[in-house]
Amino acid sequence: MPRTLITGGAGFLGSHFCDYLLNKGHEVVCMDNLITGSLENIAHIKSNKFTFVKHNVAMHIKVDGPLDYVLHFASPASPIDYLEHPIPTLKVGSLGTHNALGLAEAKRAAFLIASTSEVYGDPLIHPQEESYWGNVNPVGPRGVYDEAKRFAEAITMAYHREHGLDTKIVRIFNTYGPRMRIRDGRAIPNFLYQALVGEDLTVYGDGSQTRSFCYVADLIEGIFRLLMSPLHQPVNIGNPKEMTIREMAEKILQATGSKSKIVYTPLPVDDPKVRQPNIDFAKKHLDWEPKVELSDGLKTTMEYFKAKLNSFKP
Ligand code: UDP
Repeated sequence: MPRTLITGGAGFLGSHFCDYLLNKGHEVVCMDNLITGSLENIAHIKSNKFTFVKHNVAMHIKVDGPLDYVLHFASPASPIDYLEHPIPTLKVGSLGTHNALGLAEAKRAAFLIASTSEVYGDPLIHPQEESYWGNVNPVGPRGVYDEAKRFAEAITMAYHREHGLDTKIVRIFNTYGPRMRIRDGRAIPNFLYQALVGEDLTVYGDGSQTRSFCYVADLIEGIFRLLMSPLHQPVNIGNPKEMTIREMAEKILQATGSKSKIVYTPLPVDDPKVRQPNIDFAKKHLDWEPKVELSDGLKTTMEYFKAKLNSFKP
């Protein structure tokens, strides 16, 4: 039975990956310092193949026993989180990735880094394919996340080239689903929360900027296929169905039946104007593409938010 470490395992994506791997029969060690993750995301796991360790992976990581896979998901991932925690964001992407790679090397484990579409910055090529090097402002407020992830990709490739480590790099595009925090700050959780409690939906700028949203179950399946593949170069995983943020706000008003209004507030600095993954490479080499319709994914996410709101204190 494979034994797998997931850093950031109590976060939104990490906790879904814990569930997925336990179902596949892995033994899972989940590590998280809980700055944006939450024990609630893993509270349902009763398996005796699962352990949780509270630890900040920017510090040396110690795991007893063998490991077959090290999956490095730990990082704040919402713009408001990395603006609030700029130095931890830089450290987990740089020092944390170095530590996780060193651990993988010591255990002779395969390694996967959760990278991001933010490595493309405010892209000048559209849709974004893996060969595009990006357009990132290193000294802007988003630079702490973007550059940490770009460094993470660079050091991952260096470990692959210099030490022959079996490494994978997934570039994750906007993803949504249950276990996003209600006050996570990203577009879908904000709009759902606002629509459900009757507040105005805050569209930043004029809402003409675009994103492409992938349901979490589709994303996890794509990443697992990458993990099992022999690929070492970065692979985009996301849903190519692109829409404006204004359209997304309207869809959420429709899905919730809310009477809330849309208000327009200033666009954050360096907010990318467009984003859409080119997933030809994943289709061809992983035989993967997203399957969940936005309307279905939004419904499941809305049910989760409704249940959470009953116990939520702003
Ligand atoms: N956005 C918005 N209102 C919100 C939150 C986000 O209009 O309440 C916009 C944001 O400016 C961006 C897009 O929605 O253009 C997606 O933002 P998110 O924070 O979800 O993630 P990003 O793709 O920017 O990392």
